[in-house]
Amino acid sequence: MRIAKVEPITTARSLRGPFDYLLGAGEEWGGVDTGSLLIVPFARRKILGVVTAVAGDSELPAERLAEPLEVLEASTTPELIELGEWIAERYCSARSRGIALALPPGAGTGSRARMARTRTEVRAAITDAGAEALAEAARLGSRQRAVLEALADEKECSGPELAESAGADSTVLRRLAERGLIERRKAPVRRRPELPAVGDVAAVSELSAAQRGAVASVVGALDGESPREQLLWGVTGSGKTEVYLAAIEATLERGRSAILLVPEIGLTPQTLARVVARLGDRAAVLHSGLSEGERYDEWTRLRTGEARVCVGPRSAVFAPVGELGLIVVDEEHDSSYKQEGDPRYDARAVARRRARSAGAVYLAGSATPRPESWSELDRLELRERVDARPMPRVSVLDMREVSPKAGPLHPGVRDALSALEPPEKAIVMLNRRGYAPHLSCSVCGETVGCPHCDVSLVLHRAGDRMSCHHCGYGEPIPRECAECGSVALARYGAGTERIESLIRGLVDPLPVLRLDADAASRKGAHGELLRRFGEADGGVLVGTQMVAKGHDFADVVLSVLLDADSTLRYPDFRAEERTFALVSQLGGRSGRGRRPGRVMVQTLAPDAGPIAAAAGHDTPGFLEAELGRRQGFGYPPFASLIAIELAAPEEPPLAAAAERVAAEVEPLIEAAADTELLGPAPRFRRRGRFRRRLLIKTTAPETVRTAIAEVVEKLGAERSLQGIALAVDVDPQ
Ligand code: ADP
Ligand code: ZN
Ligand code: ZN
Repeated sequence: MRIAKVEPITTARSLRGPFDYLLGAGEEWGGVDTGSLLIVPFARRKILGVVTAVAGDSELPAERLAEPLEVLEASTTPELIELGEWIAERYCSARSRGIALALPPGAGTGSRARMARTRTEVRAAITDAGAEALAEAARLGSRQRAVLEALADEKECSGPELAESAGADSTVLRRLAERGLIERRKAPVRRRPELPAVGDVAAVSELSAAQRGAVASVVGALDGESPREQLLWGVTGSGKTEVYLAAIEATLERGRSAILLVPEIGLTPQTLARVVARLGDRAAVLHSGLSEGERYDEWTRLRTGEARVCVGPRSAVFAPVGELGLIVVDEEHDSSYKQEGDPRYDARAVARRRARSAGAVYLAGSATPRPESWSELDRLELRERVDARPMPRVSVLDMREVSPKAGPLHPGVRDALSALEPPEKAIVMLNRRGYAPHLSCSVCGETVGCPHCDVSLVLHRAGDRMSCHHCGYGEPIPRECAECGSVALARYGAGTERIESLIRGLVDPLPVLRLDADAASRKGAHGELLRRFGEADGGVLVGTQMVAKGHDFADVVLSVLLDADSTLRYPDFRAEERTFALVSQLGGRSGRGRRPGRVMVQTLAPDAGPIAAAAGHDTPGFLEAELGRRQGFGYPPFASLIAIELAAPEEPPLAAAAERVAAEVEPLIEAAADTELLGPAPRFRRRGRFRRRLLIKTTAPETVRTAIAEVVEKLGAERSLQGIALAVDVDPQ
């Protein structure tokens, strides 16, 4: 007797498998194994489930077990199911939600209708008789001959291809098939993702000595001769990508596969294009910009082993590759590796876990690594830029000395921008989109705010609207104060739109392009903007964080960061690390070609540690100091953080629920070593919901996670959290 243990894939937390199904004598069940996807009957419905194990018996008598209804074409692997189960536990999520991450595209929703399938088309191939007929110059019509000739060269063609190359219509093909000269059969067609064209992606002729050293170390790890978890710390422009590519090649040579994780895909069309250009069809890409069909086909190519390298953002860590040898995490400091929805997994931690269980190498790379990685991983260094190009000179400009009336740009920055000559380019970053972040009444001081969130609305010139960056709410720009009726409404501060128009005035006629979430909202617009900037003969790229990431433009001689301390003002222990990374990364875009670069940083806090360290290109100094600070406060990597977040439309029940959760958790974690419960603390209202947050700092994260899972289950069963949304965030960012 074969019993399939099936986990139903649903978004309902309460339904907990696995459930047993009988695999009877039917032929269709012969291939069912761990990882198979089944449609099963369940309480008079048909649902999608995944086989998590196949057993020889069940606790239920055979006659009470149902048979599945159908096996789907796609399946996942035991390794990935195990990884999904680990995630569910590690991130305090439901088992089915963890496992859903391991499934083929579309399956995780539990809806079969959403799942893509392989697309097929009829293709023609020449038969032996056909080849003979061609060789013996048998009697053939001219179009028939053309078809056979095309097929002799091409092996296999579709109808439309033959219409194009040989002018064949369906009658010609039918005749040939009737005479046995060609055969026609259904074959899968690959829906091939389009890659953005982003200029030169040629291979470098020779790796530098430092690059060779780094590659050798990764290869040593592959061969079991050096530690399997490594950090590639390489300054911006030091050629880290070439190291990844060489390491991936070495992995493939050893018959193993590789995964290359990159930050949120829209942000690095260049990296993606470069990798695929080098690895060709051995690589598959997986990201949210693909159509459902493209994603399904790429996933399937990985699953069957046709592609051995997967490139993509965080979810690519679940690529269904076998014989995994290497996982690379590029720009490992990037916060997009953390998933925001349930399960709130961190792709870096998942990658490490997956590599460890597969005996694979984990390689994290960055110019500005996280303190955690700096202290935990074996370190490889690329201390110089390629061709010994100098690091850019950084000047820190003190905005306290500039009158606010003079506008948001420092005179030094205005001069430097005005002096740009083609083909020189500049990148200017300000982490705030829109025209002005506040609109306030000069008489009563009232600020125009969002009705659903405790934030001010941002004025956008494009579209003439006030809009909320947290919930998307928008309204027309008011003419008078809603509070006192005064028409004296004043704009405060500057966003990217305003900076763009100011800079236009300074650099005219050089082009000024803006790159932010508004400008890049249309599909493909992001790559298109970068391509235009790359091809322009001089000009300025203005934008949010999006301009600081991973681009490589040779003519950029100046990088400007406005309001550099804005990230420092966040009440978050990662504020220092983020600020340091931002200043360094933006600086890293400058001076990558033959022209030396310079960086200007505008700030109200010129002496702040992260800004001073980034200006001095002192990554080790910053990280050592930061690790010291974190040790003092008991922050990661010296302790783990786990947050419990509650949200509700009404405040009093929310406050009561938060107190209740705290009271339940407290006694359970009392015994855990070095554990501290902070809060519940209110957070700002968002999307019409009040919020509270509890934070637990601990050196015994497993004990705490178990305790939290217990409390969540108990309160859920008691229904005492009715109407309150509760989320657990392990390792919050
Ligand atoms: P990083 O990721 O460290 O910022 P990249 O990998 O983008 O750096 O490399 C920066 C530039 O240097 C790229 O244009 C790349 O093609 C070039 N490059 C990398 N390695 C070499 C090399 N060994 N010789 C010449 N050029 C190189
Ligand atoms: Zn007013
Ligand atoms: Zn809002």
